[in-house]
Amino acid sequence: MSKGGYRQGSGRSKSGYYKGIYCGSTYELCWVIYSIDMNVKFKRFEKKLTDGTTTYFPDFILDDDKTIIELKGYELGDSVKNKTLLAEKLGYKVIILRKEDLADVFEYVYQKFGTKKFHTLYDGYKPKYEYHCKNCNGLILKDKKKKTDFIYCSRQCSMLGNKLNSGKFLTDEQKKEYYRNQSKKYYELKREEINKRRRELYKISKGPLV
Ligand SMILES: [Zn+2]
Repeated sequence: MSKGGYRQGSGRSKSGYYKGIYCGSTYELCWVIYSIDMNVKFKRFEKKLTDGTTTYFPDFILDDDKTIIELKGYELGDSVKNKTLLAEKLGYKVIILRKEDLADVFEYVYQKFGTKKFHTLYDGYKPKYEYHCKNCNGLILKDKKKKTDFIYCSRQCSMLGNKLNSGKFLTDEQKKEYYRNQSKKYYELKREEINKRRRELYKISKGPLV
């Protein structure tokens, strides 16, 4: 893996580098961003810990060289417990942070960058696919290939664009034309009814004024 570049991780977690620090998932990424900004001194844990049975590659270590920070997504409880016990036997203290512990961290990163697509914050991130909004032609960048070309940059564009594609409301003139056609169709369909109503209206309007 080349250092310093964004890469799409396999499966659930998206890994990459932030300010040169490797992050194995967007949880780690958010924690790294937050910790740098909060002046927490840490580095990646470069070694592996093992007792022959359990092998543990901790995420980060604080500058006391004692406190391991472990970001956990979906790992099962038992394996986490064994690894923690191993680290503790070797004199480390382990702080495990799960999704629910990171709420403030996620919120901080969101406020700082205005996006919840955290993987876009990796060094050198570049989306793979370029599209243009079918309504305003604005550039849309996507990590994944879209099945359709009918994509829009916003909800508003989507609404306008869908009307456009259904043939309605192109310009004011076309809008009028559309309504003319619609009323013509309606008239042809309900000619009798309409004429009956017209005759009634005509009589009333021609009746004596009160
Ligand atoms: Zn648009």
